[in-house]
Amino acid sequence: MSSQTFQPQPNIKSNMFYIVQSSTSCWICKKTTEVACIVVPQGHESFESDSCLPSEYAASLNELEYLNDEPLTILGRLAPSCFLDYSQQADHSYLMNHCSHCRAKLGDFYLHSEPGGPFFPITSEDYKAIHIQRFDIAIEAEASTSIGPLAEFLEAKHECT
Ligand SMILES: [Zn+2]
Repeated sequence: MSSQTFQPQPNIKSNMFYIVQSSTSCWICKKTTEVACIVVPQGHESFESDSCLPSEYAASLNELEYLNDEPLTILGRLAPSCFLDYSQQADHSYLMNHCSHCRAKLGDFYLHSEPGGPFFPITSEDYKAIHIQRFDIAIEAEASTSIGPLAEFLEAKHECT
């Protein structure tokens, strides 16, 4: 892939981010596998139709199509099973989690939007399974965002630091 011809259009910018890791059971082989996602804090810049507003809310990034080099390298090191792949449901490619055993695609919709899923914690057990690392590194991303219990949890945590 040539980086000269690919024109990323980041719609999310922040001076820091979190990598959140949890685990889920693979829908194909049923084994437990690690999954990862990125959360940006409240105050991140969100570009919507020519205007750029600091967001009032933390947000988890879904269907991540583009990530600048340094966060991409960190994500690749921490979560080698998260790499660019085509999603039939989204009809485009994004940085997708995969089962570390059988390489099945673990799509973002299932991980982020299903209550009780790895990035939609409900019970204290769900929260205990989540591992969070903070990176004070600038991030630029092209992604959809979602504001759910995970983002709210990190927002509360962010205010304490
Ligand atoms: Zn599997």
